[in-house]
Amino acid sequence: MTNNASEKSAISGQAASVFFEDLHESLDALSVVPEASHCLYCYEAPCIQACPTSIDIPTFIHQIRTGNVTGAAHTILSENIMGGTCARACPTEVLCEQACVHNVTGHKPVEIGLLQRYATDHLMAENGPHPFNRAPDSGRHIAVVGAGPAGLSFAHRAAMLGHKVSVYEAKSKPGGLNEYGLAAYKMVADFAAREVDFLLGIGGIEIFYNEELGKSLTVED
Ligand code: SF4
Repeated sequence: MTNNASEKSAISGQAASVFFEDLHESLDALSVVPEASHCLYCYEAPCIQACPTSIDIPTFIHQIRTGNVTGAAHTILSENIMGGTCARACPTEVLCEQACVHNVTGHKPVEIGLLQRYATDHLMAENGPHPFNRAPDSGRHIAVVGAGPAGLSFAHRAAMLGHKVSVYEAKSKPGGLNEYGLAAYKMVADFAAREVDFLLGIGGIEIFYNEELGKSLTVED
């Protein structure tokens, strides 16, 4: 546990569970616009070059600054459907934020991770229709092995293209690294599971659990 994460213990009968508070304090409606206004909307922005998923960072920040928070989330998720997890778990301080031009002049970089989280959380909290549409049925049926971040991101993009997708997962829950491998203080309130539910909202994706390639499942199957 870190200095930033306080511990609460809940003891029920013989069982004791440990819950964590969020590592990072989220931006709110008052703090988000000043933070977004800090961005210079750079041409050939180095923050995009440093982002492993090539999110159009200056555009989504500009959308937040002008009040189009849902549009900002769409910009993020169109490059990375798991942008909500990345906003929590990505080491932004050595990626996009380290590349931010403000560092050159000795100023604080734009809080790109927190802005990304603000936008994606906003869209998920709206609980509206899924933000991406499926193309007409392609007639193709794709099998994906593993319901981790890569498998599910691929499944989502394949579903967008009109393919039917069957995902085979060895464990009993989806999410892979996001569910089983990230520190609890980064992924509070069952965020990994909620993000998978959101992703599946596109339709056309079915997940089969407890199916392990080489054991219960073969390539021939
Ligand atoms: S490098 Fe920094 S200032 Fe420039 S677009 Fe990216 S976040 Fe904005």
